[in-house]
Amino acid sequence: MSDYIVRATAAGHQVRIFAASTKELVETARQAHNTSPVATAALGRLLTAGAMMGSMQKGEKDTLTLQIQCSGPIGGLTVTADGKANVKGYVKNPEVMLPPNAYGKLDVGGALALGVLSVIKDMGLKEPYVGQTQLVSGEIAEDLTYYFATSEQVNSSVALGVLMEKDNTVKQAGGFIIQLLPFADELVISKLEENLNGLPSVTTMLEAGEIPETILEKLTAGMDLEILDRVPTRFYCDCCKEKVEKVIISIGKDEIQSMIDDHEPVEVNCHFCNKHYMFDVDELKALLQRSR
Ligand SMILES: [Zn+2]
Repeated sequence: MSDYIVRATAAGHQVRIFAASTKELVETARQAHNTSPVATAALGRLLTAGAMMGSMQKGEKDTLTLQIQCSGPIGGLTVTADGKANVKGYVKNPEVMLPPNAYGKLDVGGALALGVLSVIKDMGLKEPYVGQTQLVSGEIAEDLTYYFATSEQVNSSVALGVLMEKDNTVKQAGGFIIQLLPFADELVISKLEENLNGLPSVTTMLEAGEIPETILEKLTAGMDLEILDRVPTRFYCDCCKEKVEKVIISIGKDEIQSMIDDHEPVEVNCHFCNKHYMFDVDELKALLQRSR
């Protein structure tokens, strides 16, 4: 198995935990969008969180979208995951470059700056659930921790990391989400805090050869870890020419006619995976027939 998520509980179901390795999916996203290192780090963190949060959903067709609208040079990010941990996403300005931050790390917080995080859960009901919080640091993991606490009233600890190779490909990526259930007792909470405080960063652990299972063992040392299952996760976009056709049809007759009048094929790119779809003039004429 390449990328995967381990779902687990500890301390007699007082704690639930997700840990993921996501190097391949983040590298796939990087190649699809040709992201700069800081954009790869930001998108990779959000994709990793999205994959884990997607797998928290009950139905396999339920979708979860993490959207960040921000004032920083990255311009914004969107990630969507389904219940099977298929995840896709993009950043608005993939070419953003920034000097390293005060710790010598990729400055994800600087790339995002101020903004709003929206969590949209579509469970097939009439209206999707939407939770929104302000960004607290723009580093994404802290922003999600804050979101869980304020919007879902769940005390959590979120860690996400992406480490780049010198050639700007992805060297390591992964993360974890720990959530305390409402009845968790003080001893469990303090033990967890103790474990968390002694823990190196996710990428440091992955670099040292740790895998999601061993990271979970460290997180829950002395707390009776129980691994529930392992779920494969991947960067996957479900776009296809038919869906793009529907989008073109929906823009209306006038727009399509003006494309036809240009006598040039039209290229439409999928936001999520950057796949190109070409429509020649004859195809556009056929779409015009189908449009209202
Ligand atoms: Zn796509």
